[in-house]
Amino acid sequence: MDTVGKADIYEELSVPAVINAAGTKTRIGGSRIRSEARDAMQRAGDSFVRISDLQAKASDRIAEATGAEAGYVTSGAAAGLLLSAAAALAGRDVHRMDRLPETTGFADEIVMPRTHRTGYDHAFRAAGATIVDVGTNDKHLGTGSTAVEPWEIERAISDDTAAIGYVQKSYTEPPLEVVTSIAHDHDVPVIVDAAAELPPTANLSRFVDEGADLVVFSGGKAIRGPQTTGIVAGRRDLVESIALQHLDMHAAASVWDPPEPLIDGDRLDCVPRQGIGRPMKVGKEELVGLIVALDSFLDEDHAANARAWRQEADRIADHLAEIDGFRTHVTDGTDVSVAPEVVVHVDPGETGLSATELVRALHDDRPRVFVGTDRLDDGIVTINPMCLDDDETAYVVTRITDHVDAAS
Ligand SMILES: *Cc1c(COP(=O)(O)O)cnc(C)c1O
Repeated sequence: MDTVGKADIYEELSVPAVINAAGTKTRIGGSRIRSEARDAMQRAGDSFVRISDLQAKASDRIAEATGAEAGYVTSGAAAGLLLSAAAALAGRDVHRMDRLPETTGFADEIVMPRTHRTGYDHAFRAAGATIVDVGTNDKHLGTGSTAVEPWEIERAISDDTAAIGYVQKSYTEPPLEVVTSIAHDHDVPVIVDAAAELPPTANLSRFVDEGADLVVFSGGKAIRGPQTTGIVAGRRDLVESIALQHLDMHAAASVWDPPEPLIDGDRLDCVPRQGIGRPMKVGKEELVGLIVALDSFLDEDHAANARAWRQEADRIADHLAEIDGFRTHVTDGTDVSVAPEVVVHVDPGETGLSATELVRALHDDRPRVFVGTDRLDDGIVTINPMCLDDDETAYVVTRITDHVDAAS
């Protein structure tokens, strides 16, 4: 196991390398970029292209993959949420684009079910939106059977509503079609955060089919493009607004000739100024890397991947179940993660160390081991096979076993 994680650039920089048993988590680097995407990025860096032309090509590819009218590449799904909010707030109004995040005088509220609030909705607020959340936590607390009812969303819509925000998970409610139907009755767009909902590839088009006006995916998770990429897919007019608020706009009006149909320059009587999205630039390298990675993702045998993840998870669960004080089971991959995860209950009475102490010990290993810690409060660690190869899996199992041996 001495070679695991040792030969990499992080060790060269004397920064401890991480073996990723936690899945596609941004804070430890997301996923492994596809080699073909990495090679394409290297080639992209060697010459020049007009970024808007490259975005127009990406738009076509994203439209093809998702069934949406248009698409756009952002510097991550979170940036996609900010730009989607900016598009909902400003529409095609260049004056409004210029004023964001200041919104006095126009609709700036994004209605969200309370149970869809996440840390990522800071992105909506950064665009200038005010979030109006509706519903309760009854279901979570066990004080009621639903979290939000469709009428609660409908009643929150007013002249101040710019959009509805929705976070897609297999268990989110109400169903997306119900929400888009209410929104469209009131002529309000729905922005869907589906950052981690790939695979299956069918999800690329599913939320558009269910009426979403803009859908956001991360390019740095299962698509395995560059870490700092995301995809927005949706309505042409909203994607145009995103482009105008994101692209570098330092252009002389007399020679400004933006690519159609991404941008309908004839309709504009001026060149917009640098917009609210300008600090989230996307380079030619990232754009090319994402386009190539998306192609590969579409060609991939996802059924075979799912089988391999399942086998790996079962194997890990079987090994760890042999440790006294561990109880393991494997999820079915349709829950919080799109991959099956090994759930390990740690009984500190038997193992001599708690789940938290185990996680700390794994962090201190060299290379470090990061496991899933979202359920640490319940004495549970999780292991996700998405970012582990065979050697790394063996290393993770060995390190866990050694820590328990040392403690008991
Ligand atoms: C990962 C994630 C994001 C952020 O994606 P980035 O591409 O890292 O910006 C946003 N929302 C949800 C639900 C996510 O899981």
